[in-house]
Amino acid sequence: MSKIFENTEVAFSLKSDSELDRAYFLFKMISHEPLVRIGTAVTNFALKAHLPVEGLIRATVFDHFCGGVSEEDCLPVIDRMYVKGVSSVLDYSVEGQEAESYFDAAMEKTLKIINFADEKKSMPIAVFKPTGFGRFHLYQKKGEKKPFTPKEQEEWDRVVARFDKVCKLAKEKDVEILIDSEQSWMQDAADDLCEAMMRKYNTEVPVVYNTFQLYRWDRLEYLKALHKRAQKEGFTVGAKIVRGAYMEIERERADDKGYESPICATKEATDLNFDETLDYILRNLNTISLFIGTHNEQSSYLAMQLMSELGIDKSDNRVWFGQLYGMSDHISFNLAEHGYNVAKYVPFGPVKDVMPYLIRRAEENTSVAGQTTRELSLLKTERKRRKL
Ligand SMILES: Cc1cc2nc3c(=O)[nH]c(=O)nc-3n(C[C@H](O)[C@H](O)[C@H](O)COP(=O)(O)OP(=O)(O)OC[C@H]3O[C@@H](n4cnc5c(N)ncnc54)[C@H](O)[C@@H]3O)c2cc1C
Repeated sequence: MSKIFENTEVAFSLKSDSELDRAYFLFKMISHEPLVRIGTAVTNFALKAHLPVEGLIRATVFDHFCGGVSEEDCLPVIDRMYVKGVSSVLDYSVEGQEAESYFDAAMEKTLKIINFADEKKSMPIAVFKPTGFGRFHLYQKKGEKKPFTPKEQEEWDRVVARFDKVCKLAKEKDVEILIDSEQSWMQDAADDLCEAMMRKYNTEVPVVYNTFQLYRWDRLEYLKALHKRAQKEGFTVGAKIVRGAYMEIERERADDKGYESPICATKEATDLNFDETLDYILRNLNTISLFIGTHNEQSSYLAMQLMSELGIDKSDNRVWFGQLYGMSDHISFNLAEHGYNVAKYVPFGPVKDVMPYLIRRAEENTSVAGQTTRELSLLKTERKRRKL
């Protein structure tokens, strides 16, 4: 497989010279761990103290990693990317709010996005997070099979109704709906709910996709068991595969509470688990559809190679590649240039509400060895090519 991701001209074709400079400056900043730690603390304090820092955040990290503050705000970004063959998954990235009014608002946003997506070819997929629709501890209690109080049961029924309303509309509008995965100790209940939605709505083509975090050593086994049930009962599986974003807290909690960590022992074991799962799904594409959420070049090359070996067309609608807006453009835009299906998650929301998301991105780029270095080196190559 030729090294298509090295083409920086294609990768950054949408970036003006000044946007390229801003990205370079940004990644340079977040490559310094102490700077990210101090920056995070100062920003959180400033936002809580109502200091006027929103403008600064917008002009730097926010505009790089987010499409805007509202879905309408994201339209220019979505249209620009679609010209290059890259679709968008609008991601309402407000996190950590636990009031019922927020859950209803998040559901309404998702419904609005599905309706919006129905009208635009550039948005074939929508997404939501389980904890956007219900309390974390409610999922946890459900997953632990502890009895609910009558009030909690009513609350849970509302969570189920929100999932159902969104998945139903997605099916009506022919929009695929991805359901993100979160911490393992709330995930069992979310998995059961996702499966119930697949059973109900994935009867013809897959509409509902659950997320499989392959830093968890038990997920391939879980996927195979789900696949077996799906085949027996006559529904298809939608699988978004990722490595997983909560490794540190997963390990810490397992350590604290004295249970076996659900995370693979090493990065190599995670990589192997990811690639084996990719292989399993691509060999079962008639009954499992795939969304590959990764910034890993090797896994992306492997997917391309397997698709070619198995005779799967590059534009087969059952295989999508996905990256986050503001990251790994060299993978997204080069894949699209070569005819693969690619979509970028485009996060949006009010600046102060998307801060947890932005902080995770900054920390990830600091801690994920090699990722920032790679972004920087690609940006450097492109600046050199443009003689900036
Ligand atoms: C489109 C998209 C959607 C996403 N949705 C979700 C989601 O719903 N839920 C979610 O949790 N994450 C999600 N993520 C984030 C994802 O899980 C990863 O954190 C991120 O993509 C980095 O992994 P990678 O495959 O891109 O590449 P890499 O940089 O190759 O891998 C880094 C990842 O490897 C794993 N890892 C690193 N070190 C070790 C170690 N020592 N031992 C074991 N494993 C290790 C961790 O998972 C780490 O994040 C999503 C990412 C994308 C691109």
